[in-house]
Amino acid sequence: MTLYFVIPCYNEEEVINETAKRLKTKVKDLISDNKIDNNSRVVFVDDGSTDKTFEIINHLHQDDVLFSCVKLSRNFGHQGALLAGLHQVKDYADAVISMDADLQDDIDVCDEMIKKYNEGCDVVYGVRNDRKSDSFFKRMTAQSFYSLMRKMGGARLVYNHADYRLLSKRAIYELEEFEETNLFLRGIIPLLGFKSEKVYYTRSKRFAGKSKYPLRKMLEFAIEGITSLSTQPIRLVTKLGGIIFLVSILMLVRFLASYFTGKTVEGWTTIVVSIWAIGGLILLSLGVIGEYIGKIYLEAKRRPKFIIEQYVDSQHGYLQRGAAL
Ligand code: UDP
Ligand code: MG
Repeated sequence: MTLYFVIPCYNEEEVINETAKRLKTKVKDLISDNKIDNNSRVVFVDDGSTDKTFEIINHLHQDDVLFSCVKLSRNFGHQGALLAGLHQVKDYADAVISMDADLQDDIDVCDEMIKKYNEGCDVVYGVRNDRKSDSFFKRMTAQSFYSLMRKMGGARLVYNHADYRLLSKRAIYELEEFEETNLFLRGIIPLLGFKSEKVYYTRSKRFAGKSKYPLRKMLEFAIEGITSLSTQPIRLVTKLGGIIFLVSILMLVRFLASYFTGKTVEGWTTIVVSIWAIGGLILLSLGVIGEYIGKIYLEAKRRPKFIIEQYVDSQHGYLQRGAAL
């Protein structure tokens, strides 16, 4: 079978050579064990890097045809880069393993993924054993994210699974049928169905360089995940509205009581507190609703999820749109 690796890279000049070296060894081993064939490739997706990432990939490609590159026209984010890679190679590969560029995922687990593929799985999730290699902060935020996701009833997320996974050709084809612009891959892939399995590994620390996911991006990603999979937050707003309405009736009773007993000046605190509380809730609720309206707005435009500028590959040149045949 032909196996492709798809590696999204955004400003990864510090790690990419090492990643390439290790992947090359891996692919050679797999080929000599007859697990994959000679047409297998490693595809780096340059997600609009501003450093030397693209140059380095080009050099790698010149030295060895094993490496090829999909260059995006700008930074589309990790999910976009991944999708672009999958889209580009789906016709050539029987299966694709997606992996981060920073060597956090254990490459040796690939053997097991391929085994499961041969046993008939279309999706094989790489799941981390624990989160020891994460900072306390990241562990905390990730855990709250997963438990929030579960409470919000948002899809069947695979716990502690990031984007290290094997997808078969037909899984990728079906994935492309999900046409939404806001694609949250981790939530969508379980929706594909097909036979799937998990393989476990220990995630190590980033090999070099800084995380491209600071708190801001993580929060965005979490909100994206929840709102793209569940409408529970909107229902929550409705429930909140109901509760507040009930509370206001109780307050009314209380105020009427104090009016009739003649204590009308008392109550300043209650008023101020309720103004702030209700004001805050209104803003929060508007925010939640706005989040969904924003999403509808983006979906209505049906913008492309990624734009491929160039495909650097020895076998299959990338025909740019509009180019003469
Ligand atoms: N990445 C990307 N585009 C981005 C941000 C990140 O392609 O806009 C890639 C990055 O190069 C890496 C992977 O996504 O291969 C995961 O990023 P990172 O390791 O920084 O995230 P973390 O492991 O800290 O969550
Ligand atoms: Mg990482």
